[in-house]
Amino acid sequence: MPAATRVLLVEDDRDLAAALRLELGHARYDVRIEGDGPRALRAHQEWAPDLILLDLGLPSLDGIEVCRRLRAASPAPILIVTARGAVEERVRGLDAGADDYLVKPFSLEELLARVRSALRRSARHEQGERLRVGELMLDAAAHTVSLAGQPVELTPREFALLEFLMRHRGRALGRQTLLTEVWGYDFLGGSNVIDVYVGYLRQKLAAAGEPPRIETVRGVGYALREP
Ligand code: CA
Repeated sequence: MPAATRVLLVEDDRDLAAALRLELGHARYDVRIEGDGPRALRAHQEWAPDLILLDLGLPSLDGIEVCRRLRAASPAPILIVTARGAVEERVRGLDAGADDYLVKPFSLEELLARVRSALRRSARHEQGERLRVGELMLDAAAHTVSLAGQPVELTPREFALLEFLMRHRGRALGRQTLLTEVWGYDFLGGSNVIDVYVGYLRQKLAAAGEPPRIETVRGVGYALREP
């Protein structure tokens, strides 16, 4: 039997931590709880978790800073957990390298779904998967993109958007799907953000050569066409 997936739970609310440990345990995850940032950083070194659930409201070291340090030290996906309403905090968390976030109170089903989804994405990256559409190449593990051999510099969010388009090439993808899958949450700026990022991608790719076309599908969203 393969070793259980290790989840590091960084949460100072003991009751919530204990409840989550129980539920994650039922789902066959191996859970370790730490109540503050410095302990979490040490635990991460000793234990090498496969995924980190990080509460942002922590004593001693600010959760955002903990996120930044964990990100610098670990390839494991980080899901931040935060209180409702703290929109800015969520955005800061994502900017600090978190992969996704959950808003308290959340349902157990949602937590487990997000955990599974983050682990799937991370497994694909570990396998060093390369995607190719025409002359456009994306290396998920190395986090690089090239067009006809020329490197293309993308921001993390542009990269994630392009990866999703390439993975589902030839299919019309709705804006809501792109938001949920690429941004991982309901972005408050609305689906306009997709149009803005598609614009960035088109510009950067066109500047690098002759990329496959990111087509606007009226009333739906976008599709990456095979050349
Ligand atoms: Ca807390």
